[in-house]
Amino acid sequence: MTYRAPLADIGFTLKHGAALTAAVDEGLFGDLTIDVVDAVLAEAGRLAGEVIAPLNRIGDEFGTPFKDGVVTTAPGWKEAYKTWREGGWNGLAAPTEWGGQGLPQSLNIACIEMWNAAAMAFAVGPLLTIAAIDALYAHGSDTLKSTYLAKLVSGEWTGTMQLTEPQAGSDVGALRTRAERAVDGSYRIKGQKIFITYGEHDLTENIIHFVLARLPDAPPGTRGISLFLVPKFLLNDDGSLGKRNDVRAHSVEHKMGIHGSPTCTMIFGDAGGATGYLIGEENAGMACMFTMMNRARLAIGVQGVGIAERATQQAIAYARDRKQGRTPEMKATESAAIIVYPDIKRMVLTMRALTQAARAICYATAMALDRAERSTDTAAQKAAHERLSLLTPVAKAFSTDIANEVTSLGIQVHGGMGFIEETGAAQLYRDARIAAIYEGTNGIQAIDLVTRKLRLSDGGAVAAHLRELRSIVDTVAASNNPAFGSTPARLREALDALTHATEWLRGLSDKEADLGLAGATPYLRLFGIATGGCYLAQQALAALRLGEDVQPRVALARFFAENFAVQAGALERTVIDGGPGLMAAAAGLEQ
Ligand SMILES: Cc1cc2nc3c(=O)[nH]c(=O)nc-3n(C[C@H](O)[C@H](O)[C@H](O)COP(=O)(O)OP(=O)(O)OC[C@H]3O[C@@H](n4cnc5c(N)ncnc54)[C@H](O)[C@@H]3O)c2cc1C
Repeated sequence: MTYRAPLADIGFTLKHGAALTAAVDEGLFGDLTIDVVDAVLAEAGRLAGEVIAPLNRIGDEFGTPFKDGVVTTAPGWKEAYKTWREGGWNGLAAPTEWGGQGLPQSLNIACIEMWNAAAMAFAVGPLLTIAAIDALYAHGSDTLKSTYLAKLVSGEWTGTMQLTEPQAGSDVGALRTRAERAVDGSYRIKGQKIFITYGEHDLTENIIHFVLARLPDAPPGTRGISLFLVPKFLLNDDGSLGKRNDVRAHSVEHKMGIHGSPTCTMIFGDAGGATGYLIGEENAGMACMFTMMNRARLAIGVQGVGIAERATQQAIAYARDRKQGRTPEMKATESAAIIVYPDIKRMVLTMRALTQAARAICYATAMALDRAERSTDTAAQKAAHERLSLLTPVAKAFSTDIANEVTSLGIQVHGGMGFIEETGAAQLYRDARIAAIYEGTNGIQAIDLVTRKLRLSDGGAVAAHLRELRSIVDTVAASNNPAFGSTPARLREALDALTHATEWLRGLSDKEADLGLAGATPYLRLFGIATGGCYLAQQALAALRLGEDVQPRVALARFFAENFAVQAGALERTVIDGGPGLMAAAAGLEQ
């Protein structure tokens, strides 16, 4: 079973859910037209389905053999990467001054979904390069930009993101990699990084590492971290590749999934120190890295959407094909495709609804990024920035959590065959697992949401979001369309639950902070369910407005509201009332 890009759903969510069409009409993207958007999506879908998706299985089986410091990617990957980058996909949303196409970030996110659905292990590398481009563009000196940006934008060179060390995972501030000032203004980097995605590979001639390190006189913790650009090959004065820098991959991990993606231990400074160039100011590296991380977090969220979409497609195809048992009205000699059974319908609709809700959240987040980057009105730009900050942890964690659930259901729909590798359902399940862990675990995303994002503008950012969701529900109610069933009532209850939980969290004193942390993950889920439910209803309203075939969108919004939004009340209870019980049950756990 291969992957067919769901262009109708992607296009609709982007244009009418995330309101790209409205933004195009108001001129946010200059002379961009919707015809161009459609053409880009169609071509991305073709490339993802025809060129990249067939590599998924090959990458899983071949892995990334490592010998004498060299990683070999799976057969066909080099050629596919060349085709992909020559198509200009790496620089789709990158600045035109550096060779990019300057198209909307939201359009790029839709394409990133397709690359990841096609082959997550393939797409995770470019995803980091794209995030690195944003960080270098935002924080790099003119010299660094003119030396490296064009080659990163074209994809001729790839970028890596290097935070993690054995003692510094979620706690980035514990990192020990050192940077010493050299007389020529560059730095010498020494240390070890682990779990570095595409730290070494054979897809491109050069690899540009974005490395966090600490200066000798730096303050402790995250306030003493600087960001450095460390190329695998140093450059000659004419820009050609020069000598090998003092950085190398020491080993490659054996993993549960994304086998086609090399995850490397990197050694800096075996021979005196790798040459690195400072990005931004000394000791201000976390702010620069946050630009990269936030882009990557949204992209990992959409990675979850992509893999969930692929699992859903595969499960539906299997359920239509697999015959087992019969319905009461069938003859004893006949057998029915399992798709006729309500429990199978429940599973595949759960897969579809969660995937579409997560897609809606991710694309809305990407549209907030577009508005934050392009709005000329200061107040609108600030509001977009805050919306982006608020939704990024939800986009990342909700989408990757549901990817785990959806790929697991995908196996269940297959029955025993789901457990057998040949069907491919198992690979999707294994691949999806990492997305909830890397780029900041989902637990850390929930903590970020509760402790930092709810405080934006003293609660103004979350209040504005809730107001917007309520106006969607009001419009659904006002439509008086019986096809919505009890959608407005269920969504209203979900929003009430989210509002109460938000107020409760915001009202906690410093002494009660642990209660908030205990409820952070259920709160993020509540946030995702309420937001996703309202966004699906918004899409149904858009379909009604446009006079499209409304039945599927209205029915899906209703299914979500009546089957998932109803969980909001229980989640609210868990957030508000669950903490003390958790603390009591946890007594003695630390011994
Ligand atoms: C395949 C793969 C690819 C990766 N790619 C990269 C990469 O390219 N670059 C890079 O820098 N890193 C990369 N990583 C590392 C990844 O980002 C980390 O594994 C992740 O951030 C978690 O860190 P950790 O593994 O040290 O887990 P830990 O930080 O030890 O966390 C263990 C558990 O404790 C929880 N936890 C930790 N601290 C807290 C806290 N304060 N409060 C509550 N809970 C807490 C976590 O949520 C988690 O559940 C990759 C990892 C893998 C497996």
